Amino acid sequence: MNVTHLECADCHKIHEANTLQNLCVECGKPLLVRYDLHRAAENLTKDSLIHRQPTLWRYREVLPVENPANIVSLGEGFTHLLKTDKLAASLPVKLNLYIKDESTNPTQSFKARGMTAAVSMAKELGVKKTAAPSAGNAAGALAAYAARAGMEAHLFMPSDTPRANIIECEQTGAFVTLIDGLITDCGRIVAERKDAEGWFDVSTLKEPYRVEGKKTMGYELAEQFGWKLPDVILYPTGGGTGLIGMWKAFNEMQTMGWIDERRPRMVSVQAAGCAPIVRAFHNGERFAAEFENAHTAASGLRVPKAIGDFLILDALRESGGTAIAVTDEDLIAAVKEIGAAEGIFCAPEGAACLPALREMIEKDLVKENETVVIFNTGAGVKYLECFN
Ligand SMILES: *Cc1c(COP(=O)(O)O)cnc(C)c1O
Ligand SMILES: [Zn+2]
Repeated sequence: MNVTHLECADCHKIHEANTLQNLCVECGKPLLVRYDLHRAAENLTKDSLIHRQPTLWRYREVLPVENPANIVSLGEGFTHLLKTDKLAASLPVKLNLYIKDESTNPTQSFKARGMTAAVSMAKELGVKKTAAPSAGNAAGALAAYAARAGMEAHLFMPSDTPRANIIECEQTGAFVTLIDGLITDCGRIVAERKDAEGWFDVSTLKEPYRVEGKKTMGYELAEQFGWKLPDVILYPTGGGTGLIGMWKAFNEMQTMGWIDERRPRMVSVQAAGCAPIVRAFHNGERFAAEFENAHTAASGLRVPKAIGDFLILDALRESGGTAIAVTDEDLIAAVKEIGAAEGIFCAPEGAACLPALREMIEKDLVKENETVVIFNTGAGVKYLECFN
């Protein structure tokens, strides 16, 4: 559609868009999709959105698929932005607090956003077999979208992945392998075997399109807030795809003249048992070293090394945001607190944002009457092992 090329996020080398690409051929860093945004803005106007379908494909002019027949959709995106006044009342400062509830996506997490884009592009470019390592929800989403597209999905997950994720993959026809190790170990297996097996690697940020699907969270926030962004966004961060994507979306919207140069303060929330971004942020480093002995019940946050680390850290710093680690005890307790106050059964990853917000308030990092958005990235019901 309006895609012009792919650009390396670090060395800026240009790559061709209409062919299968993984990482930058020069430096091995992630590739980002670039658009002719002035052309996109001719058809994609704020008014044009009023009559469009309530899925993320409403922003199709700034999404990568060329032929609409290749779009593989299960009705993802345009999730509810819920005002959470009872939860806000439990905080020591008065805030306009919202939860962006991603648990209502197909396969019950925001991984559906990335996979609808990645699988649609894989279809457009002729892929028959996909593969990915996953901490759980990415596998469930890839299995579903691959099934819908008529492709194979080969999934590698740590053996202690929540059972619901393993079962959903099997029941949607994927090939599942459980590994005694972490998601990074699973990623190595995909990398080693993919050429011989003819698999296209859809690991997060190792192909350019999952970010594009996830960036629509940024477009939706702007649209749902009447084209004014919130003051603070708390984002439970594993690979950081959604945070990187939203940051990209804000810049695209500014280029199209939809918003001004003001940005929300972006906050990465991680588990204390796996906090590579938090550590690198506070040490002033541009890249985040692998986190040793990573462990947390919030499986989506169990990512000891993120290939897009520098993009996450750049966004946190440029936005005046921060990075906060939360103990498993606190994040599990927060699931019930949010559930009982607002009726939203959050994934532990999403719930982690509440204790992180409390810490921000204590440190005077949020001011009275500011608008704060918590991302509930998935559904608590997938994590029954956490609630014994
Ligand atoms: C994958 C996942 C995350 C982390 O998302 P990234 O964009 O990779 O940082 C957070 N929460 C849940 C429920 C997830 O499945
Ligand atoms: Zn490069």
